[in-house]
Amino acid sequence: METKKKDIRALTKEQLRQFFVEHGDKAFRGNQVYEWLWQKSAHTFDAMTNVSKETRQMLEDNFVINHIRVDQMQRSSDGTIKNAVRLHDGLVVESVLIPTETRTTACVSSQVGCSLDCRFCATARMKRMRNLNPDEIYDQVVAIDNESRLYFDRPLSNIVFMGMGEPLMNYNNVLKAIEMITSPEGLGMSPRRITVSTSGVPKMIKKMADEEVKFRLAVSLHSAIDEVRTSIMPFNATFPLKDLREALEYWYSKTKNRITYEYVVWKGINDTREAADALVRFCKFAPSKVNLIEYNPIDDGEFQQANADAVEMYQSILESNGITVTVRRSRGKDIDAACGQLANKS
Ligand code: SAH
Repeated sequence: METKKKDIRALTKEQLRQFFVEHGDKAFRGNQVYEWLWQKSAHTFDAMTNVSKETRQMLEDNFVINHIRVDQMQRSSDGTIKNAVRLHDGLVVESVLIPTETRTTACVSSQVGCSLDCRFCATARMKRMRNLNPDEIYDQVVAIDNESRLYFDRPLSNIVFMGMGEPLMNYNNVLKAIEMITSPEGLGMSPRRITVSTSGVPKMIKKMADEEVKFRLAVSLHSAIDEVRTSIMPFNATFPLKDLREALEYWYSKTKNRITYEYVVWKGINDTREAADALVRFCKFAPSKVNLIEYNPIDDGEFQQANADAVEMYQSILESNGITVTVRRSRGKDIDAACGQLANKS
């Protein structure tokens, strides 16, 4: 029986150096292989041309490289690209490339499925199968960077953790992936161009604040009234707004970073003046930005985008209270690539 080989990218650089020393080679070999694995995204040991054949064979005998495969790529009429990404164990996640005039943003997944139960989100209908490993998150970014260079003649500029899954429920792996994305030994991107979006896990927001992370934080709020939020995001019963708010105050006191809120206005749910006032009260304590996102229907008609008047009402109330507002149009709707639509349908 073949013993299970280890994912070589689960090793730190130091562990890889150590491995070579233990196998009678120089620690420096570890640096070379590490560079192949991350910066050069090698898919096979054979690609490591400055490493001897014997060494490559020795690596082959001990490890695997669990690189992702883009199984299917769909292009929207607005230029958005959706990748169906097959993982080494056959599970599939999705990631999205969103082009604008000046930027290319990668929207990446952090889990297969999701353990949260937001009632308006297609991903919530899948079971959470497992967390993604750091290299599986990293590879999604590399794939989109390559597509951006190929189709838009420019490198990837921004990353948002707004694909499948709740990044703060897979915090350690997300953090490791970001370390490699930002490291000169990986992609060397600025952490300021990375946004982690969360439904709001207070304990983890505090941990991020303590660790003084340099990336940006977005919170999917959707309602600042507990009763309403719990009805659409049931885990709010466990992490109520009071705790979320306290964690965000802590985050701001430590990082002095503006907080972004994502917010959909739905007919009959949060399209009232009272709901908008509650939002202002919730986010006024720190410099904030609210992204009013368009709702992307996920088939059963239970939720409906509020009419334009309600969105304008939100916009003017927020602005008159000094809160930055943007109204986001959906991208990639025709290929089910928009917010909340990722569910491995194709
Ligand atoms: N779990 C994280 C990451 C997912 S991000 C989070 O909740 O932030 C995806 C964003 O799309 C979140 O703001 C989510 O609330 C929003 N969303 C989910 N379903 C949606 C839908 N059908 N239409 C528009 N936005 C949706």
